[in-house]
Amino acid sequence: MHFKDHILQGAPYQQALWMGGEITPTIVVLHDTASPLQPGNAAAYLADNQAKVSVHFVVERDGTITQQVPVNRRANHAGQSSFNGRSGCNGFSIGIEIVNPGRMTRAGAGKAKGWWGETFSIEDMGVEEITTAEHGHGLWMGYPQAQLAAVFGLLGALFAEVTTLSDITTHWYVSPGRKVDTNPLFPLEAMRAKILGRDDPADLMAEGSSIPENDPTAYVEIDAGGDTLNMRRWPSFNPNVLVAIPDGTAVPVLRRGVFDNRAWLKVRYAGQEGWVVARYTAAVCIA
Ligand SMILES: [Zn+2]
Repeated sequence: MHFKDHILQGAPYQQALWMGGEITPTIVVLHDTASPLQPGNAAAYLADNQAKVSVHFVVERDGTITQQVPVNRRANHAGQSSFNGRSGCNGFSIGIEIVNPGRMTRAGAGKAKGWWGETFSIEDMGVEEITTAEHGHGLWMGYPQAQLAAVFGLLGALFAEVTTLSDITTHWYVSPGRKVDTNPLFPLEAMRAKILGRDDPADLMAEGSSIPENDPTAYVEIDAGGDTLNMRRWPSFNPNVLVAIPDGTAVPVLRRGVFDNRAWLKVRYAGQEGWVVARYTAAVCIA
């Protein structure tokens, strides 16, 4: 696959009504359409609506891809959002909408119901009832192999052509508490691992923007006013909590850095390494 003028050749192009100015995309944000499944239904809405929404690509259940905004132009897909300390993801991301019903509810024996009232066979459509911290409870429809293969192929083409891209994320990650797409059945980490390789770019960013603590006796005590303190995989407030550290616990400091104007420490607790906000810690002397 090749891009000409930042449009994917070979895929149908359908110009969206809402297209913004030039951007330099650094991440891809994946979405579910939360819509009926008929081919072209979500794509038609995303191309032309009064809600001022748009997206770069729509991937149908059969794997058909439609492009609607050039990848170097802004589309309105993420709304209020932030990624690892940078807010307003529409200004630096490529959006991909994957046709899927989104969160469904139970509708009698063996049926799940989309928000617009249509019901689906739980057995025939690969629907599962799942609760996660990020999504809450719901009935969720699995993604067909043809659709996942198309998303994978599109990501591969984008990362080959758009050299500024460094990571793949989801709407629930950049808009926590507000959005639940993609659904819990989407194989995000498997796809990230395949496209991004072994080195996680978020890990590299955190390591590259911090300095190691070389003193093995450098410890801090969690000082959270009686609360626990979240230890996070990366130094950001996206949904990435590894474990809550009890108040008063002394932990070794591994790295120090400032991210989004806030001081963070990388520490070790309960056999894991992760980041805590420095202001909820106090230096202690381990004799
Ligand atoms: Zn979304």
